Amino acid sequence: MRKLRIGIVDLVTKGPTRALYARVMHANLASIMPQVVGVWCEAEGHQVTFVCYTGFENLVAELPADVDLVFIGAFTEAALLAYALSNLFRSRGAVTVLGGPHARCYPEDARRYFDYVLGFTDRAVIREVLQDGARHRPLGVHRAAPRQPATLPGVRERWKFIEPTLRKAPFFKIVPMLGSLGCPYTCSFCIDSVVPYQPLDMQVLQDDLKFLRQQLRRPRVGWHDPNFGVRFDEVLDAIEAAAPPDSIDFIAESSLSLLSEPHVQRLRRNGFKALLPGIESWYDLGNKSKTGKVEGLGKVEQVSEHVNMILRHIPYVQTNFVLGLDSDRGPEPFELTKRFVDLTPGAFPGYSLLSAFGRAAPLNLEYQRADRVLPFPFHFLDNNHAMNVKPKNYSWRDFYDHVIGLTRYTFSGRAIVNRFRATTAPIPRWMNVVRAVSSEGFGRIRYHTELRRRLDADPQIQRYFDQETTEIPQFYVERVRRDLGPLWQWLPEGALYHDHHAYLKSEEAQPLEPVNVG
Ligand code: SF4
Repeated sequence: MRKLRIGIVDLVTKGPTRALYARVMHANLASIMPQVVGVWCEAEGHQVTFVCYTGFENLVAELPADVDLVFIGAFTEAALLAYALSNLFRSRGAVTVLGGPHARCYPEDARRYFDYVLGFTDRAVIREVLQDGARHRPLGVHRAAPRQPATLPGVRERWKFIEPTLRKAPFFKIVPMLGSLGCPYTCSFCIDSVVPYQPLDMQVLQDDLKFLRQQLRRPRVGWHDPNFGVRFDEVLDAIEAAAPPDSIDFIAESSLSLLSEPHVQRLRRNGFKALLPGIESWYDLGNKSKTGKVEGLGKVEQVSEHVNMILRHIPYVQTNFVLGLDSDRGPEPFELTKRFVDLTPGAFPGYSLLSAFGRAAPLNLEYQRADRVLPFPFHFLDNNHAMNVKPKNYSWRDFYDHVIGLTRYTFSGRAIVNRFRATTAPIPRWMNVVRAVSSEGFGRIRYHTELRRRLDADPQIQRYFDQETTEIPQFYVERVRRDLGPLWQWLPEGALYHDHHAYLKSEEAQPLEPVNVG
């Protein structure tokens, strides 16, 4: 086969930026699969140029002018940027391939703009794309492995792509690693709930940690496992065998049910500096919080005690919540979260608005069937800038009033000071302050407040939220135009719109048949 010039672009943001936070943090959000694809393409004998797009790069200048094939990895919030880039590179003669969460969630839509759209991706899928390497237009082809790969190239093999990415991060440098795929829990909104849990090779993990200690003075590793530590002893034994205690800083997302005090103590001994447990709801998903059937205030007190215990051992804890779940009704869920903020001043609360990402989870079929999904442009589907599921037990106005009330409470001067006082380590202390006063805290208060104002005053927004029209309000169109900057001109016509019932239609009429390879 001819040696191909391949470009791989990992989109960690949704448009060009000059923001300070982006400069500091974006390179640390790099995904693992684009690096893996780079390793596999080189193993097939091709020439790879890899770029982690943090919002500062000129991709046309960075990829070879005569690039044959461009792989783009994107979350849904970066889909419009991905579509614009695909259009641009196709105009220069390249064949384009989309992978990552957006390709898995919205394959029908992505096929309109890419030659290949990938579901689960293993080496056989990549090999087939490379061997075919043809244009597929107007509709791209969908390729998927039957399951996630059993093994993935580790840090040592990915280092040639990791290192230049880390160079873009001026202060913190976080190396992405994986110990497992999928999750044994079944949180109905989560893309990983339908992926069978599967630990990866512990030998590779150990080798990677040893390798990292040779490369970096004190490595900092971000575990990308959907739920770190499901096989707790196995993975901690592996870490302890590979690195002396507390010689590497680790960050992980883990459910509270895995974070008993002995486990947390062991994590501390091994250098874990930040944990992100998902609490999600005070009325649902009790199994992952280890609260069983306890609900409401009882759950708040129990979870708060648990998180305060973690904070005695681990400097940084972010607690994740989903707002607008069907189990929520009235002001109480929001008031309970405020109570949690008071009782757990050291934790940083991360809020997500309930979102249905295409075919990510079977529950989305129910939402589509009930006509509760709104077709917001993908650009806003980042769990905050739009909630694309109509709340079951709230009007939009009431819902946003509650969200604004909770966000204001969480990022009030008093709460910021309490959080500062309750956190002892210097970096986490200031990190909490910066997050509160930047786009995440104050920025969201401003955004939600503006949206709430428009729910009263902007007829386009009102009709859109009330599902009387699918015409996208100017408010959103202008934001996409602003965020894409010079790439707006490459956004294909019609790309702001997608069929928000595509999953349901494909299930009911003509199931999308991925071609299984291997
Ligand atoms: S525990 Fe976390 S990763 Fe697992 S299904 Fe629930 S939300 Fe997803």
